[in-house]
Amino acid sequence: MLKRTCYSDNIKDGEEVVLAGWVHERRDLGGIKFILLRDREGIAQITAPKKKVSEEIFKLMDSLGREWVITVKGNVKSSPQAPGGLEVIPTEIEVISMAEPSLPLDPSEKVDADIDTRLDNRYMDIRKPKVTAIFKIRSEILRAARDYLLSQSFVEIQTPKISASGTEGGTELFPLSYFEREAFLAQSPQLYKQTMMATGMDRVFEMAHYFRAEESNTRRHLSESDAVDIEMSFIENEDDVMHILENLVSYILKCVNENKKKELSLLGIEINVPPTPFRRVKYDEAISLLQEAGFNVHHGEDLGTESEKALGNIIKEKYGDDLYFLTKYPLSTKPFYTNFDGDVARAFDLDYKGIEISSGGQRIHNVEVLKTRIKEKGLPVSSFEAYLKPFRFGMPPHGGFGLGIDRLIMQMLNLENIREGVLFPHDRRRLEP
Ligand code: ATP
Ligand code: MG
Repeated sequence: MLKRTCYSDNIKDGEEVVLAGWVHERRDLGGIKFILLRDREGIAQITAPKKKVSEEIFKLMDSLGREWVITVKGNVKSSPQAPGGLEVIPTEIEVISMAEPSLPLDPSEKVDADIDTRLDNRYMDIRKPKVTAIFKIRSEILRAARDYLLSQSFVEIQTPKISASGTEGGTELFPLSYFEREAFLAQSPQLYKQTMMATGMDRVFEMAHYFRAEESNTRRHLSESDAVDIEMSFIENEDDVMHILENLVSYILKCVNENKKKELSLLGIEINVPPTPFRRVKYDEAISLLQEAGFNVHHGEDLGTESEKALGNIIKEKYGDDLYFLTKYPLSTKPFYTNFDGDVARAFDLDYKGIEISSGGQRIHNVEVLKTRIKEKGLPVSSFEAYLKPFRFGMPPHGGFGLGIDRLIMQMLNLENIREGVLFPHDRRRLEP
């Protein structure tokens, strides 16, 4: 096999190159034949004028099928009509792998496919340059997140994904048989990352995988999702945690803007990097804004999908903000481990264009208070014994958040559906691929 010398976006006039990729399109104008060769970085035009290439190559150009894998050796020439102003005149073409003629979907994006067909044939769907672009941006999001957190002296950790109990609520657990016992897939690293605060590690983060048995089929919930989770010690209140979150998100947006220009322009997306600090909207204010706009919402209840979306529009109109914190939630809407002042939770959500992308707050670090809250939530204290033990032997005040990556990319790129930003999304109905 010919060895690739560069990707299609890196060819230069006058060079001899070897490209490797898929046959995106073919055109035949009689005396001149074209192939568009697609690789990860773009599309290159292979031009074979009858008079300038060998007879063998001229014939081979005819026999190639769409989506065949080929390598092409040739000379780069400038050509104003070609994409990128350059074309490759082939001197050698190798067929590496053929494709059946009837394709399950059209990678050249001329024919639209519905989301189910796309996900059923994801390997081919991802060949589309716009879909590839989403996953290159996703990689940059993760790189930037690591970069930022490491720069703020966080230590990266990994915690178990099989656990003895749930964290975020009983109904969304996936049970599994663990030898002679029952265990569950981890809904979040919550309990482990809090335990880490008792180890003296002080500031930790995890690129975490969540498993949640979300019954309803929504455009923003999956059975498996990814998040950046952090936990930090010696905080004064939840504001210290919000400070890290807003700077993290702002840094991620800035990095994507600077380092993924080609992908953003392909997707037709302009990212607005908001100034920090992000706007803080108190829960009470959010309820009033929604009531004024005619929504039937009541103090004390968590915001539903519709009101969350409406609030996003109201805040955008009133202040021009895409990203804003919702603060001072009623304690009753938050999990048992949430710290509080009276009946107000020291917790927050971060919303992006009307969808929650992160939740966090200060946690309870006093073991007696924690036990009381577990009881008040109607949970059995006995099943939290292992979690509670570290709180008995020196636990600093701490807090953290979980930032959903799939939600972040969905809102950043205005994707219709969370599934578009996940390679192989799994949900209530879909377990394959
Ligand atoms: P929601 O109320 O929107 O269902 P949640 O409050 O249950 O979310 P958290 O427990 O706060 O979710 O999890 C932290 C973050 O993880 C969320 O803000 C979201 O970005 C992401 N997340 C949670 N559950 C899912 C899911 N099922 N699919 C995709 N992302 C999720
Ligand atoms: Mg939440």
